[in-house]
Amino acid sequence: MKHRFFIPALLGTLLVLASCEPKEQKVAPSIPEDPEIESQVKKIVSGLTLDEKIGQMCQITIGMLEDWNSKEEFKLNMETLDRLIDEYKVGSFLNTPRNVCQTLDKWQEIIGTIQQKSVASLGIPTVYGVDQIHGGTYTRGATLFPQGINMGASFNSDLVSKNAEITAYETKAASISWNFAPVLDLGRDARWSRQWENFGEDPLVNAVMGVAAVRGMQGEDPNHIDKNHVAACLKHYMGYGVPASGKDRTPSHITDSEMRDKFFAPYLATIKAGALSIMVNSGNNNGVPFHASYKYLTQWVKEELNWDGVIVTDWADIDNLFSRDHVAADKKDAIRMAINAGIDMSMDPYDPNFCTLLKELVEEGKVSMSRIDDAVSRIIRMKIRLGLFDTPTWNKEDYPLYGSEQFAAQALAAAEEGEVLLKNNNAVLPIAEGKKILVCGPNANTIRGLNGGWSYTWQGQQADVIGEQYNTILEAMQNEFGEASILYAEGSRYMGDQWDAEYGDESMLAEVTAKARQVDVVMVCLGENSYCETPGNLNELDLPACQQDIVRAAAKAGKPIVLVLNEGRPRIIRDIEPLCDAVIDIFLPGNYGGDALARLVSGKANFSAKMPISYPKYGQSLTTYDYKPCEQTDMMEGAYNYDAVVSQQWAFGYGLSYTDFAYNNLTVDKGTFNANDVLTVSVDVTNTGKVAGKEPVLLFSTDLVATCTPDNRRLRAFDKVELQPGETKTVTFTLPASSLAFTDDCGRWIIEEGDFRLQAGNQTLMIKCSETYRWNTPNI
Ligand code: BGC
Repeated sequence: MKHRFFIPALLGTLLVLASCEPKEQKVAPSIPEDPEIESQVKKIVSGLTLDEKIGQMCQITIGMLEDWNSKEEFKLNMETLDRLIDEYKVGSFLNTPRNVCQTLDKWQEIIGTIQQKSVASLGIPTVYGVDQIHGGTYTRGATLFPQGINMGASFNSDLVSKNAEITAYETKAASISWNFAPVLDLGRDARWSRQWENFGEDPLVNAVMGVAAVRGMQGEDPNHIDKNHVAACLKHYMGYGVPASGKDRTPSHITDSEMRDKFFAPYLATIKAGALSIMVNSGNNNGVPFHASYKYLTQWVKEELNWDGVIVTDWADIDNLFSRDHVAADKKDAIRMAINAGIDMSMDPYDPNFCTLLKELVEEGKVSMSRIDDAVSRIIRMKIRLGLFDTPTWNKEDYPLYGSEQFAAQALAAAEEGEVLLKNNNAVLPIAEGKKILVCGPNANTIRGLNGGWSYTWQGQQADVIGEQYNTILEAMQNEFGEASILYAEGSRYMGDQWDAEYGDESMLAEVTAKARQVDVVMVCLGENSYCETPGNLNELDLPACQQDIVRAAAKAGKPIVLVLNEGRPRIIRDIEPLCDAVIDIFLPGNYGGDALARLVSGKANFSAKMPISYPKYGQSLTTYDYKPCEQTDMMEGAYNYDAVVSQQWAFGYGLSYTDFAYNNLTVDKGTFNANDVLTVSVDVTNTGKVAGKEPVLLFSTDLVATCTPDNRRLRAFDKVELQPGETKTVTFTLPASSLAFTDDCGRWIIEEGDFRLQAGNQTLMIKCSETYRWNTPNI
């Protein structure tokens, strides 16, 4: 008896041990190798001195180059430029002068001068990078699109790809060829100040949208980026969105299995799609800063994926290895760690001394010449791919569509598809023509609120001046319904938990009640002011009391209330939600977000977005939709109960329309399948209402039993269809069985024999995997 158990147990142990050993693997390069480019790279790199090589690895901020004698406008300090390029051989610059967007003429002047100097002195053009994360952040007059969270809500990757294409065009018009986007961190913690930069909480949504963004930004051939495209930079590699404290750049504790399954997924997809560069997460995981992680930087992307792109640090993050994280003794030690871990370029904004210290490290044998050659080859390769050796600058005249009506129409369409209708009792929406409406609240009359951070400036604080020509919600409502139909009251100002001079006084509430009595409908616009990164850290997730009081004041009049939430992350509104007949989360819809909202509430356009995140109801019950079964503690009170049983205000995937959709005939071509099969799943979707509408169709799976406790549900595919009243379309998904697998605790991709449930709308279907199979590679 003992014996019989012993042999299988021993065999099992040996198998597990064997399967946990790292496997040598060679995959095809994620960007096809171009022999001509490679020979050019070799030729250039072999002709460089050590100083020149190290200079290529250094990126400095434009702020260092300012001539402070010029008061009115930014001027380059030529002496500093000469010093940085002649002495330190600096190969890259970033950021916008004076931290505010610049005109095309100014960019042409700045980049033209830097390129002239770089080419004359080094024979190598510079590569200039900026953060145009939702359109033309730093290129004045360019188009601003909705932020990532809205585009996640749209579930429409075509929109994402078009937005990215326009952004690339408008970036290139300024002679800038490197964009620090898309942001693919996964917004999985409601408290985090960068939640809104991402396409929501789900790995697949971020992967699909990320691929669309990379293709839109870079074009179809990553080896030859043409005049209308730029290099993408995937950021912030990876798992940046789940700091344990909820505060920006604080530690996370992600296991390697979860990392592979979720946080790595969008990077994997976008690297395979040809992304040219990656920026690293500023934080640290399980005690190891990402900037010092050989495993994540070198093994997971450069080796396993055979990827030949550039890894750049985030802002001064090599310094953080000693000054903040105390894993290095001093700056030199920190440089040694980071470069040896796999960093190719240091965004060392104010400190070209990076170059001196790195040279000492090479001379002391602490960083190998082969590591330097590898890093420089990657940077030179990217510059060749970008065509910078042939064309270091472009003419703005060749970009006639810059800031055009055509691009504005795209931004409006994107905004319309990214605002989510969450409640609409008694069909209070759409609001009929001729009705009187009170528009109130601190977010009713602000362009800054519509855009959020990374809008004209880093924190977005000048948007009301620079974006003055765009319509706030109030202005858009006046345009849509006629000025005579709209009353306005501010209600309160931002963020205060108590009333004081900064946030207004209670007479503002009395004004809301009085004006609410004079109208048919009250639209209360609440939410957040713009912020980004650490300045956006929160101590309290509830919507501030002085804002919630506006709904209470409006409710005294007894008129229907439409609550508009304009926010980068879900602020808790549990207490005021029952007072509202309708709720719309517009997130951060950009310059045309007010116009889009007015068209949606008047019924000229129809809602078609769904929640890309889980909207919490309680500060102590934060979760994502793919939680583990043991997290089920309550019955969900949201209307879209997909068997979910955690307390949430609104579930991931929830969103209403002015029409209804019925799901029928969920079918699969193989009820029983093997690990290497590809399943075809289809479902019929019918518009059963009276108006046309678009519906995101989401296909989820649940692994009923697995050796690692399975996620409650996982999104496996999605598509968006447009349907006329009465029309039915069959939506078909191709689903490799491997996409139902998970990463085991050895980091291997595994699918186990047993039952899975598929679900789309109210349709479910059981399927069976007939074998347990473990791939030899991670999920690639
Ligand atoms: C941000 C990055 C950004 C970089 C350069 C950092 O503070 O974390 O997202 O790309 O600055 O501006």
